[in-house]
Amino acid sequence: MTTTVPTHDSPPVLEVRSLTKEFSQGKLLSRKSVTALRDVSFSLGKGEILSLVGESGSGKSTIARIVARLEQPTSGTFLVDGRDIIATDKRRASKAYRRQVQMVFQDPFGSLNPSQRISHFLERPLRLHGLARSRQDVRQRSEKLMTDVGLTPEMLDSFPHQLSGGQRQRVAIARALAVEPALILADEPTSMLDVSVRIGVLNLMRDLCDQRGISILYITHDLASARYVADRTIVLFAGEIVEDGPSLDVMAKPSHPYTQLLTSAVPDPNRTRSLDPATRAQLRADVHTAMYGPGGTPGEPAAGTEVVQVEVGPGHRVRRRELVVAGKAVTF
Ligand code: ADP
Ligand code: MG
Repeated sequence: MTTTVPTHDSPPVLEVRSLTKEFSQGKLLSRKSVTALRDVSFSLGKGEILSLVGESGSGKSTIARIVARLEQPTSGTFLVDGRDIIATDKRRASKAYRRQVQMVFQDPFGSLNPSQRISHFLERPLRLHGLARSRQDVRQRSEKLMTDVGLTPEMLDSFPHQLSGGQRQRVAIARALAVEPALILADEPTSMLDVSVRIGVLNLMRDLCDQRGISILYITHDLASARYVADRTIVLFAGEIVEDGPSLDVMAKPSHPYTQLLTSAVPDPNRTRSLDPATRAQLRADVHTAMYGPGGTPGEPAAGTEVVQVEVGPGHRVRRRELVVAGKAVTF
């Protein structure tokens, strides 16, 4: 008997479904539970860059760490290439999964052992995953990886401290590429780099998607770089997605007060007006009300509220809370 290959579109590379994460913080007697993620769902297609934007503490790294399997979610799950990873790989990432999903961190120096030559960082994954065996093969593939990320093969013999921050981050990207992953989780990869070299690293990420079909989850607190590099942007506030859509639309027509607050801080030569402090203070109050209800406690949505999702443009959604008072829905 022959089996037919299904003809429907391939599944998204990453599909996150209702992820919730609670941490307990503090000493034994004063322990409290912190909700780092609340019902987060999104998907990322092949060859796409998706930006995840939010201020420090909004839960961005927690999402990356869960998908990298460094952290277990409290509830919810995620699929990679259609496979439910939490259900199938139980507690740890399999070797095959570690090849499929790679992570690039914020600090390009911290992630490279200073006593090793650059060649080490590329040879190790190549050998570990059986992608090159002979010395010559390993060297050739390492040299190719270096040129692929805009570095020279000679730099393989350098030590990390001999390279600039931007060059080190390119090595970290080459190391991720060595295993030919489907998905790269890039957690603030440019935030420790000089402004002048940031754009080069962003362009490199864009090329990897366009030319190799790699998907990238680009995590940043910088809305301008999110717009520059990504097709779509998701805005995260206190562990919840508040807005998502095509990056240009989210920037040009921010709908949630939090996104408006973020965009108002982005230097933009095209913007004719910059927000005055009073307007910003008002927006901040609006963010609070939109998330927790009038007079609500930060971090705790008011009892009885429900999240409603409104489509404000093609593929551009904003989420707000709604409370039913005396049979009437009030949206904050
Ligand atoms: P971001 O990357 O957006 O700055 P994080 O995902 O690192 O945010 O953190 C989100 C929230 O979860 C923060 O309130 C942070 O204090 C908390 N958190 C993250 N990791 C832990 C942990 N291991 N233990 C306790 N709380 C944590
Ligand atoms: Mg972080």
